[in-house]
Amino acid sequence: MKNNIIIGGGFYGLYIAEYLAKKGHAVHLFDEALDFMQRASFNNQARVHNGYHYPRSTLTALRSRISYPVFLKEFKDSVYLDFKKYYMVGQPLGKISAYQFEQFCKRIKAPCKAASPEIWDYVDRRYISGIYETEEVAFDAVKLKNTMLIRALNAGVILNNGTKVNRIEKLSCGKINVFSESIDGEAMVYTVDQVFNCTYSNINQINLNSSIEVIPLRHELTEMCLVKLPTEIEKLSFTVMCGPFFSIMPFPSTKFSTFSHVRYTPHFDWNDRKNEPIYSSNKVLEDNHPTNWRRMVNDGTRYMPILKGCKYQTSLWETKTILPASDRDDSRPILFKSNYVIKGYHCVMGGKIDNIYDVINMIKKYELDR
Ligand SMILES: Cc1cc2nc3c(=O)[nH]c(=O)nc-3n(C[C@H](O)[C@H](O)[C@H](O)COP(=O)(O)OP(=O)(O)OC[C@H]3O[C@@H](n4cnc5c(N)ncnc54)[C@H](O)[C@@H]3O)c2cc1C
Repeated sequence: MKNNIIIGGGFYGLYIAEYLAKKGHAVHLFDEALDFMQRASFNNQARVHNGYHYPRSTLTALRSRISYPVFLKEFKDSVYLDFKKYYMVGQPLGKISAYQFEQFCKRIKAPCKAASPEIWDYVDRRYISGIYETEEVAFDAVKLKNTMLIRALNAGVILNNGTKVNRIEKLSCGKINVFSESIDGEAMVYTVDQVFNCTYSNINQINLNSSIEVIPLRHELTEMCLVKLPTEIEKLSFTVMCGPFFSIMPFPSTKFSTFSHVRYTPHFDWNDRKNEPIYSSNKVLEDNHPTNWRRMVNDGTRYMPILKGCKYQTSLWETKTILPASDRDDSRPILFKSNYVIKGYHCVMGGKIDNIYDVINMIKKYELDR
């Protein structure tokens, strides 16, 4: 049996914690926030990806096709099905044509049929060249959190909220010291066999504090608007592919939908690079940023005039972290650095929720669960 510390109580940290505990290991999980799954695992578009989104990365599309039914089965109580999902092909700025999108869906064997004529009434045909009814669902981040907390506790994971991990240190005996600090300032040191850094946008903050080389990562400050849709399209969801377009998805833990835009959801970006100072993703979120809502809806209305009836509620702000290569082809591979600089220290990040299955496969492959 190994003693493990998981840093980060997002979906990834909780899932890995439960997995290791069920294998018979001792697992403590720390999250700096007072509640779990409050960061990227909440502030996202809630799409359970079924491949459609990735015509520029067939590998990511195919991986999504494999994990989609697995996720739906495992989290059937946390997914929301009560809406119709349409993918549309935008023009003239689109990177693919309607024909190419159809061929792509065939290639990845994703269900895709021409939308019924009344859906065309919502769009300006000058800017949309194809509309397809597809199969994709949304997850409810609050239900997912509650499910994962129960599962982790049942497996014997010790959950510590309001506890920040500042740094780790390798000991000559092969174990690792983990230095934490509770919200009321109490400092603690834990000595364990294995540490998983699942802090997503903060992975390099811990590396830097521990004098461990930073991992090249790219971050964006993102804004997802929460809106009330006009009644006629309340139970519909639209994603315009593939370029500087927009997407509307139900956000099931509220009665609203997210409205995101490829051009206006990211406000600015930055990179963590080796041997350079890094910005704190937490600090970026502390500042006030003016909303891009007007820009998003003004552009969206050109494609779908009905969107002018959207009622803005609020915005979800988050740091989105991806591998630098993903910026080019929009792929979403996982980051999995086992025994990173220190034996027993593993840095893990998934670009989307369902990548968790790839992470578990890597844990098995490297026998980190032994
Ligand atoms: C705008 C946006 C849209 C997205 N849309 C989708 C989508 O539609 N579908 C999809 O599948 N994926 C989407 N994603 C990606 C998805 O949100 C992430 O892949 C996933 O949530 C990552 O989970 P995580 O547990 O690694 O990170 P997080 O949920 O961010 O968890 C990290 C945890 O670490 C904690 N933490 C940080 N630093 C410390 C520290 N020093 N000590 C202790 N705790 C710490 C944080 O409090 C946090 O709880 C989106 C992401 C963003 C930002």
